[in-house]
Amino acid sequence: MHIILFGPPGVGKGTQAENLSKEFVVPQVSTGDMLRKAIKDGSELGLKAKKYMDKGELVPDDLVLKMVQIRIQEDDCKNGFILDGFPRTIPQAEELTSIVLANNIPKFKCIEISVPDDIILERLKMRGRKDDQLNTIKKRLVVYQKQTYPVKEYYKKVKRFYKIDGNKSIEEVYNNLKEVINI
Ligand code: AMP
Repeated sequence: MHIILFGPPGVGKGTQAENLSKEFVVPQVSTGDMLRKAIKDGSELGLKAKKYMDKGELVPDDLVLKMVQIRIQEDDCKNGFILDGFPRTIPQAEELTSIVLANNIPKFKCIEISVPDDIILERLKMRGRKDDQLNTIKKRLVVYQKQTYPVKEYYKKVKRFYKIDGNKSIEEVYNNLKEVINI
């Protein structure tokens, strides 16, 4: 199973990815989690990433791509991966396409979990993470519209795009996700 879980922050990608990862025994590759860990570890990548993340901006493509390339070559990604929070820009999507093609990955899917903006805003306010302050939240949603939304069009063009309604219970969203995964 090789999928991208797509959608703005707060849409439930992390929760769903975690559950899918357990059932299908493929790793959840969350670039946000990896970057937060890099910051916690005080690595060079973490230091560079922090100033962008604190502002709600995207971390530059070259840093994120290097990190993802290394991660998905690891052994546990052999039978698949669930990408959560990646790709977020067209160059990231293009690089991922080269990896998918080079590795003959079949049935690759980008699945959007879709939730109305006002509900996302409420969810993010309740989550209360450091990068979930109101100003940063708004900035992240703007960044999403500007830089990440085109990624959706990219996957529509190549007919890899699927969409499910995320404004339902965690269980219902999960079941709908599995239906799409089995197509
Ligand atoms: P997330 O937990 O996925 O919402 O990510 C938190 C923050 O990490 C984002 O607001 C970005 O600053 C950074 N980030 C995570 N994934 C990416 C990515 N694929 N490209 C660039 N920046 C990213």
